[in-house]
Amino acid sequence: MTHYTDPCHPETVRVAASHQARARQIASELAAIAATGMVLPGSITERRTRCGRDNCACHADPPRLHGPYWQWTRKIAARTVCRWLSPAQREDYQAWIDNDRRLRDLLAHLEELGAAALEADHRLKRGNKAAHRRTGQATP
Ligand SMILES: [Zn+2]
Repeated sequence: MTHYTDPCHPETVRVAASHQARARQIASELAAIAATGMVLPGSITERRTRCGRDNCACHADPPRLHGPYWQWTRKIAARTVCRWLSPAQREDYQAWIDNDRRLRDLLAHLEELGAAALEADHRLKRGNKAAHRRTGQATP
């Protein structure tokens, strides 16, 4: 296991044992998910469609739409990328998407631990926190 420390300040922040324990739990779950290699961003949504034939039931009242079809959607920068999936693919890849969500949740927990450690740091200046609230800056 590689240890990540700041070489200029080898003993900067001492974190609580409970903090370390939680971080280790998160790390092992992150590693377990990553090791599967089954991680997919975006989402899979169900689509029901109309065809071009005027006399088809999909144009009736009430309409009987075609489908369900499954579509994987992902945002890349400002563009949305879509791919049609077979029912079997939908079945397989939903777990990959669930893994991606879990990875993001775990990272968010890790970041919360870091934010809590900073807030608990006795060197944090009191005026600093008050000024932060006054300006109304949101923490990402
Ligand atoms: Zn139709």
